[in-house]
Amino acid sequence: MQFIDLKTQYETYQSEIDARMNAVMQHGRFIMGPEVAESETALAEYAGAKHCITVSSGTHSLEIALRALDIGPDDEVITAPFTWISSSEVMLLVGAKPVFIDVDPVTFNINVDQLESAITPNTKAILPICLFGQMPDFERINAIAEKHGIAVIEDAAQSFGATQNGKRSCGVTQIASTSFFPAKPLGCYGDGGALFTDDDEIATKLRAIRTHGGTKRHHHTLVGTNGRFDTLQAAVILAKLPHFQKEVDRRGTIGARYSDLLRDVCQVPEVADGNTHVYAQYTIRLPNRDAVSASLKEAGIPTAIYYPKCLHEQPVFSHFGYDYGDFPESEAASKEVLSLPMHPFLTECDQDSIVAAVKNAVG
Ligand SMILES: *Cc1c(COP(=O)(O)O)cnc(C)c1O
Repeated sequence: MQFIDLKTQYETYQSEIDARMNAVMQHGRFIMGPEVAESETALAEYAGAKHCITVSSGTHSLEIALRALDIGPDDEVITAPFTWISSSEVMLLVGAKPVFIDVDPVTFNINVDQLESAITPNTKAILPICLFGQMPDFERINAIAEKHGIAVIEDAAQSFGATQNGKRSCGVTQIASTSFFPAKPLGCYGDGGALFTDDDEIATKLRAIRTHGGTKRHHHTLVGTNGRFDTLQAAVILAKLPHFQKEVDRRGTIGARYSDLLRDVCQVPEVADGNTHVYAQYTIRLPNRDAVSASLKEAGIPTAIYYPKCLHEQPVFSHFGYDYGDFPESEAASKEVLSLPMHPFLTECDQDSIVAAVKNAVG
């Protein structure tokens, strides 16, 4: 059994993926070939955003977003400490400070109740993560940001395809960033990512920074980078995107079935009112996590721990003076979460054996 089955997905769409990739080999425009712009149009339409700017990874996209908002030394960005390192790592790259607030114990997204008290005169943006594939309450977050005149950047690396009150992730904030890392809900066959915005001026800046800070060739007005999305990866996205909504629906069905079967034995990822969940990870929570994980391994079922250590405990952030104990919900989550196999091709039969093994391990 596999944790994420990319091979079955490839075999299912193989003729379309191969044809798209072969077309790139034939025309040879490996950098910024026509598939890049074509994928941006298709992705923007899917997300419901005016602009999509593809980039070389979900990490690079977050850094480009901060640069486009002129976030730099002495600026503060409010975010969560229970997540992958990218969102806070990029703040260090531009010289800004991650200001952590704790997470909600059920959704593991930022606790919006703590948001306003973390805002200072140096706060430039809020960077919420849609952890495991569900969005935090963006209506509330956007309202708070607007009141204080600060930006909102959605880290939608895990939530592409999720919705809130009928709007898709990547279409609800000033800037959104996603990732096409192979294991994400919409993955390519290498590194990749994308930025989304409705704002024409920000879109122009994001585009310029992605390609060495120039708005025309050999004229560099901004500090940029090489953050381009490969044409071959755009070809993979173009082949997969027509099937994506079907996969999102399938993920929703599989996730809901897991929750129905497991709700009595452990904490399951409940879906907040108004939301749909893409279950980038299907993550349960249990006090004896390590024993359950070991028992599942013995039964041949792969699991993963996202994330075993919070960001405020990571040495790279130690100079900000955070301490163990500062974010108790995040710390407790890091000791109790366990992600189960999850992908759109998971069979009911496999799911039933996973559920049986969890029940057996919990005892
Ligand atoms: C994967 C991920 C990223 C980074 O994406 P890459 O494409 O791997 O650089 C950022 N934030 C979150 C929450 C992620 O899960």
